[in-house]
Amino acid sequence: MENREVRVRFAPSPTGALHIGGVRTALYNYLFARHHGGKFLLRIEDTDSHRFVPGAEQYIFDSLKWCGISVDEGIEEGGPHAPYRQSERKEIYFKYAKQLVDSGNAYYAFDSAEDLEKARKDAESRKEIFAYGPATRMSLCNSLALSQEETAKRLQEKGWTIRFKMPENEDVEMDDIIRGHIKVNTSTLDDKVLYKSADELPTYHLANIVDDHLMEISHVIRGEEWIPSLPLHYLLYRAFGWSDTQPQFAHLPLLLKPQGQGKLSKRDGDKFGFPVFPLQWNSPDGEVAMGYREEGYFPEAFVNMLALLGWNPGGEQEIFSMDELISLFSLEKVSKAGARFSFEKAKWFNTQYLRTKSDEFLGEILKKMLSEKKGIEVTLERAAKAVSLIKERATFPSDLLPLTIYLFEAPTEYDAKSVSKSWKAEDVENLKRLADFFAAAPSFGKEQNSAATHEWLTENNLSMGRVMNALRIAILGAAQGPDIFAICEFLGKEETLSRIARAIDTIPAN
Ligand code: GLU
Repeated sequence: MENREVRVRFAPSPTGALHIGGVRTALYNYLFARHHGGKFLLRIEDTDSHRFVPGAEQYIFDSLKWCGISVDEGIEEGGPHAPYRQSERKEIYFKYAKQLVDSGNAYYAFDSAEDLEKARKDAESRKEIFAYGPATRMSLCNSLALSQEETAKRLQEKGWTIRFKMPENEDVEMDDIIRGHIKVNTSTLDDKVLYKSADELPTYHLANIVDDHLMEISHVIRGEEWIPSLPLHYLLYRAFGWSDTQPQFAHLPLLLKPQGQGKLSKRDGDKFGFPVFPLQWNSPDGEVAMGYREEGYFPEAFVNMLALLGWNPGGEQEIFSMDELISLFSLEKVSKAGARFSFEKAKWFNTQYLRTKSDEFLGEILKKMLSEKKGIEVTLERAAKAVSLIKERATFPSDLLPLTIYLFEAPTEYDAKSVSKSWKAEDVENLKRLADFFAAAPSFGKEQNSAATHEWLTENNLSMGRVMNALRIAILGAAQGPDIFAICEFLGKEETLSRIARAIDTIPAN
């Protein structure tokens, strides 16, 4: 056991878009596999045909790729245990279900949906909850209660199931790497369906255990919502005689809503106006849900943020590359408590990552936006220079256009508040004088121009704040923005003077 090769799997069901909680499960599996030099498998669990959603499987592949989570064995990659889609492994499972019947750990059940509904109602009328289990199974329609002949006859007809025979009143002792020892008495558990003859398919529990065994999975890392299934899974391993090689388990904490109350749900995205999916999801029925990618997140920022939702290597550092995450990751440092999702923090990560991108990389994006959205053609050099002036203020690449547009387009409107405060007759007069000073300036380089202008302001006893605000209004349309001398340098003397002249002509002093 100790020296066993690490083999983990991410086993999503393609029932819709992959929620960020699912992406985090995939990420932790991936980090764990890479940290231990093991294998990361992607298995699609699609045995519940009623819940199958077209496009969901491709969405899972695309999401993992976007995050940089590479798969070693899977549907697209192949591998020694192919196929990796459970619906294509159909033939495998019956044999195992039958094995459990033969060893007395499972039985055939023939109850119709109506019979079960009636049993449920009857129990309800007695203020009890119906459970198919030790207390009720002998009064229901199954191979334990019926004669051999009757059972053989009923097996000829479709519609039977195989149910696990839950042991009576037994303590199941389990271990979880994150949660420690867990003990559950089987009296709280029922006889789960393992196999359905109607579609010749196993249910999740059977397929999951059989595949984890056949695929030699060493560790099962999955969401906390699967803890209630753990006793059954332990008992299934025992019933098959596989306890010695059963995987170790680690159940991850929930991702909580921003307020910290309750699980972050798929609907929370719409409710709070932030994405809960990695990529935009266009559902088959026409619904569109936002994605981190489309909202302008860098995959590295998204992955970094997700990695820290429930795990922390200790210390102050918050920015980690994928390689750093791999080298630091350990299940022991995953917390038991739910991790509260914060959209503000997600944005903070993106801001940090945007700053690490080169001016040229972002300049390319800006150049394209200017051309496509504004019909303005600029060189890459110009776009990169513009980016360098405002990079610190941007969170998303899409911010680059509004943050720089005034560098490429003279303002046509002027902010009323700025004008009413900083555009008095005296300000206009002083701005005219500044324009004359600029016109005569031997250099328009930001350092020299700034130093010379400061000196000129002092000599002429002019208020730096007032003159600069008037200049900003003329150049940018509002009394705000980054270093004004850097902007003047970018625009050049001619454009700077023309904007000042136009503002003086068009805005009446107040
Ligand atoms: N198919 C299950 C899911 O959708 C997998 C659970 C597990 O990892 O065992 O989450």
